[in-house]
Amino acid sequence: MAHEYESVNPNNGQRTRTFSVLTDAQLETKLVAAEKTFQIWKHTSYADRALIVAKAAELMRANIDKFAKHATTEMGKLINEARGEVMYSADILAYYAAHAEAYLAPVKLAPKLGEAHMESSPMGVIFCVEPWNFPYYQLARVAGPHLMAGNTLVVKHAGCVPQCAIEFEKLWMDAGAPAGLYTNLLISHEQSNAIIDDPRIAGVALTGSVAAGKSIAARAGQNVKPTSMELGGSDAFIVFEDADLEKTIPWAVWGRMYNAGQTCCASKRFIVVEEIADSFLAKFKAALEALTPGDPMDEKTTHGPLSTEAALLQLLEQVKVAEKHGAKIVMGGKRMDRAGAFMQATILTDVTPDNPAFRDEFFGPVAMFFRVKDEAEAVALANDSDFGLGGSVFTRDIERGKRVASAVDTGMMFINNIDWSDAELPFGGIKYSGYGRELGDMGIQEFVNKKLVRVHDMPAPLV
Ligand code: NAP
Repeated sequence: MAHEYESVNPNNGQRTRTFSVLTDAQLETKLVAAEKTFQIWKHTSYADRALIVAKAAELMRANIDKFAKHATTEMGKLINEARGEVMYSADILAYYAAHAEAYLAPVKLAPKLGEAHMESSPMGVIFCVEPWNFPYYQLARVAGPHLMAGNTLVVKHAGCVPQCAIEFEKLWMDAGAPAGLYTNLLISHEQSNAIIDDPRIAGVALTGSVAAGKSIAARAGQNVKPTSMELGGSDAFIVFEDADLEKTIPWAVWGRMYNAGQTCCASKRFIVVEEIADSFLAKFKAALEALTPGDPMDEKTTHGPLSTEAALLQLLEQVKVAEKHGAKIVMGGKRMDRAGAFMQATILTDVTPDNPAFRDEFFGPVAMFFRVKDEAEAVALANDSDFGLGGSVFTRDIERGKRVASAVDTGMMFINNIDWSDAELPFGGIKYSGYGRELGDMGIQEFVNKKLVRVHDMPAPLV
């Protein structure tokens, strides 16, 4: 595996900076600081924790362009999407600064005898491993809740976004955090394994691929440490004959193309009932053709590059394999004839269950299109997946939408909308999409000790 940290602009392939991984001695110094700070931070009041977390949110908002530019030049996100991500990351931090105390307040129980309550306390130093596709939002999703809960964090970000990682660590220093509260680690996978084994680490949070999930969850399991796993997805976008296509098509485009299609919960499998399948496909194709490829720093661009050349090559190979096994390419399928890691918007049809593509996650602008007879067939196809992150249903009949949402085996379902996250709503999946939840009330409960305290003053039974 790559253990390099380097900034390469995917718009033109230019390498701008490289960073060395930490030596083991440097890593040890950082772990000592994280553990030492935990001993103080766990006793720090919610109000005092909130001062720092809310300040970090404020600084993100005040420096939106600085943060956004790093994301765009390191992983190719459209500049306006990058600005949106920075603002949303700030919202998540502010949300937990405001709500953590209420979410973690003691809960009174009603035992038959005596009195009892559950209380929540932090666990210790949490190790977070995060992906490049939302280089700030993924960090905010762990930093907001887990720091407010009283844990300290050591974080391994992806190899292609080191400057985003360093900026986010600096944010905490600028917000007045003590050294060791939030620590960025430029480390190898071997060092990551050693960290999981380290007795000072109390839990492990990963957002990334299924392969990384299997490796990291197994390692944590050997150490009997709690984990949260936010992994891949191949979300269904189900369209019924009564859907409003004027609204549905723009959602289909956004669902597949947002972040150049590199979103865990992007719409990846378009499942459309026969009656409107031709009409949907023609309109979807026309809308994708109307996108404007270009430099992601240019606000007029609507189709940016993939994150890296390697990501592009992997996606092209997946399309090639899909075609070899019988899929038809209705549009796209190739890299764009220009510099940079640009993939054409692509639609595949005729993907049969024996095609490897059927069970694959396409992490880029490649849509799989399926025709189905009716609602039952749509649900069955949506559920025929190794993933279970999210999904969408488009229909004018909201009750029908809710019925289908209940029948699809995923962690999240959205009616007349695409998979999206909000600070106050739990996010996560089932099956190979992982387990545990981030965001909302549930997200802050992942790495806290839920302790039962019972008062029951009575004589011991005689033996
Ligand atoms: P990835 O290769 O798994 O990388 C994610 C992170 O894990 C990176 O920091 C990577 O570090 C690290 N990593 C990978 N293997 C590791 C190992 N064996 N030991 C230690 N660290 C390891 O994932 P990706 O391809 O960059 O990201 C896209 C994937 O993430 C997609 O499958 C996507 O669906 C998923 N995702 C899920 C969610 C969600 O909330 N469910 C959100 C976003 C993305 P290096 O870069 O140094 O290898």
